[in-house]
Amino acid sequence: MSADLSDLYQNVILDHNRRPRNRGKLPTANRSAHGDNPSCGDQCDVFLRLDGDRIAEITFDGSGCAISQASASLMTTQLKGKTTTEAEKLYKEFHEIVTSGKEPEEISDLAAFAGVHAFPARIKCATLSWHAALNAIKGDAAQATTESHKD
Ligand code: ZN
Repeated sequence: MSADLSDLYQNVILDHNRRPRNRGKLPTANRSAHGDNPSCGDQCDVFLRLDGDRIAEITFDGSGCAISQASASLMTTQLKGKTTTEAEKLYKEFHEIVTSGKEPEEISDLAAFAGVHAFPARIKCATLSWHAALNAIKGDAAQATTESHKD
């Protein structure tokens, strides 16, 4: 691993990678979606239970690089309890962080991924689970693939 790349693996990312949150299938899920990032080999399934407009429970399962797995873990902690509108807003913030490297005004664990912007190939790794989660929310059972998105 290069020194630059190791800079990516900040404490939040390392922590989520070592101790993933909300990992595994969700028996009570009423929505799910699969995400695939062929450019890196990352796979991610997101399971969630929508209670009206609110994400009551959310889990992920998958395999892939440290960035993709840590991002999925962090994503579940950020989206749990949020409304679908809030979830879309959070994704926009996260997308802005990973593509621009700009840290948000409010302190947020999402900022741990700001370093990803220097590694464009890794942006897909970071956003994969979010694409899957938003597809699950929309009830779009079609497979989420990073290839159909710019990033
Ligand atoms: Zn990856």
